[in-house]
Amino acid sequence: MAIRISPDIAGITPYSPGKPIEELEREFGITDSIKLASNENPRGPSPKALAVLGEAAKTLNRYPDGGGHYLRRALADHWKVSPDQIILGNGSDEIITLLTKTFLEAGDEAVMADPSFVVYKIDVTAAHGKLVQVPLYEFRHDLPAMAKAVTKKTRLVFVCNPNNPTGTYVTAAEVSAFLQAIPPDVIVVFDEAYYEYVTAADYPDTLAILKAGRNVVLLRTFSKIYGLAGLRIGYGLTTPEIVQHLNRIRPPFNTNSLAQKAALAALSDETHVRESRRVNTEGLASLTARLTALGLHVVPSQANFLYFDVKQDGKALFEALLKRGVIVRHLGGTFLRVTVGLPQENDRFITALQAALAS
Ligand SMILES: *Cc1c(COP(=O)(O)O)cnc(C)c1O
Repeated sequence: MAIRISPDIAGITPYSPGKPIEELEREFGITDSIKLASNENPRGPSPKALAVLGEAAKTLNRYPDGGGHYLRRALADHWKVSPDQIILGNGSDEIITLLTKTFLEAGDEAVMADPSFVVYKIDVTAAHGKLVQVPLYEFRHDLPAMAKAVTKKTRLVFVCNPNNPTGTYVTAAEVSAFLQAIPPDVIVVFDEAYYEYVTAADYPDTLAILKAGRNVVLLRTFSKIYGLAGLRIGYGLTTPEIVQHLNRIRPPFNTNSLAQKAALAALSDETHVRESRRVNTEGLASLTARLTALGLHVVPSQANFLYFDVKQDGKALFEALLKRGVIVRHLGGTFLRVTVGLPQENDRFITALQAALAS
């Protein structure tokens, strides 16, 4: 007899990560392939983080500190908030899961942009909430339309800033007008996974919005600029009340001891962050110029990736790049997303793309 499953869960398409390098090389019989598909830091982890792992590994027989005391205290000092305003997650992904499980009852609505980060859709649906997706306008969040989409049933609004997959951002003025149109008891989640890469002067200071007492959650992660994606650790900055509610269902040991210690070290490694941002900013400019010169339309990005229109079957081009050992992301239709790599990786990508476009 067939097992029973909620139609909500049965309707979810599993998240599809990029193809692992090993699998690609086996399949096409190639070596030296490069992965520019998951917005990882091509410079690697912070050396300070690597340096603490050996010692930290000696206590792996022990459970981690479930409260993440030292890391939360360091983050609190760093952002000038109280430790009780910080929640740690197994990646910031887990905090999205905690938010939807905690605040959505069946049929409650969550507003988000489309396309945006796919995890919101999965988690809202898994929590039996109702997705309200508002199309991007010129590749950016349409905040006025998102505000209009809020109803009495809305509990959560996701603003992915910069947005994945487009790399676009919304400004301080736009966010300020948006919040004025949203009831204060609706939780606005600003997913700022690429926060440390942003260089735009008019990017919103959401921490100030939090400190002014709004029900906002700022999601940050050690997976992107800090280069610790494999350890799975991220955090949320929010109100003590929201942290308390999330803690009711947070798994007791959700962040592991290696991750907590490496994150603590990485947080203090300002050189690694600064240099990673510099390499990225240069890479964005260089890739934008070269893609544009190839006649492709490139969307301006504040993150560590570019979303561009190849003006032909994106899937076929994605596969042609794969055969040349370059892994990017195909995001439907004629659009691809490429992560900014090291200069030599960017060169390799452009060479492969030129060849793929010509074939
Ligand atoms: C990469 C990413 C995250 C971070 O994921 P982790 O779970 O922290 O690794 C969150 N939001 C967006 C939009 C991302 O692109």
